[in-house]
Amino acid sequence: MSLIEVAKLKKAYGDIDVLKQISFGVNKNDVVAMIGPSGSGKSTLLRSLVHLENIDGGSISIAGDYLVNEGIYAKPPEIKKITAKMGMVFQHFNLFPHLTVKENLEIAPKMVKKELSMVLEKRSRELLAKVGLENRASAYPAKLSGGQKQRVAIARALMMEPEILLFDEPTSALDPELTGEVLQVMKDLAEEQMTMIVVTHEMGFAKEVANKVVFMDKGEILETGKPNELFDHPKNERTKLFLQRVN
Ligand code: ADP
Ligand code: MG
Repeated sequence: MSLIEVAKLKKAYGDIDVLKQISFGVNKNDVVAMIGPSGSGKSTLLRSLVHLENIDGGSISIAGDYLVNEGIYAKPPEIKKITAKMGMVFQHFNLFPHLTVKENLEIAPKMVKKELSMVLEKRSRELLAKVGLENRASAYPAKLSGGQKQRVAIARALMMEPEILLFDEPTSALDPELTGEVLQVMKDLAEEQMTMIVVTHEMGFAKEVANKVVFMDKGEILETGKPNELFDHPKNERTKLFLQRVN
């Protein structure tokens, strides 16, 4: 079943075409690794899916509903409903510094979904345990390592019970020795069949965990394939060059 369908998506900043008629699909339970050089439009693409960016043309449908259909956006309440199906994890965590870990987890479902405290407390306890941070519920983000912050950010995204998780370079801001603990949480989610798009430079993770790899360059998807196809037998010259540089 197709959870995300993107067709001819266009986005420009001024004179610069950042996304040039991008089309791709994500099926339920897919783990898509999105790779490509800096500036190729990967973040803009993820941000467009959750409507942190307005696109200039094309279509995005999520679980069968159009967020934007041939350049025309759905009505605001509908947009809210559609984007709520996705959670996003950012490179720089974006935790609220003045809230504890537990409060960071519970604030969005409390404010947005008006869920009961009792329900949220149970869920936040379970999710903190899932990311290995059950004893840091009352800590403030400043007291946590980067790896711990990112695991909190993942738990926070899961609090909204999304169908799809989007990760934008979740380990790029971390010291190398802390990337493993974050990648492990993502791997666990993949094993539980979470549908994910992961923008990453971690080629090892992409090979091991993704079932689909998308190579982006200069606002276009140049190649899509299974990890072993794309990594071992890239068809496109620019994919080959990129892989030589990162390996
Ligand atoms: P990536 O995530 O692949 O590194 P981005 O999506 O961040 O690429 O950026 C793609 C292009 O869009 C880059 O050339 C970048 O400079 C430009 N860009 C991104 N955000 C903005 C913005 N808010 N204003 C102007 N240009 C932007
Ligand atoms: Mg980026």
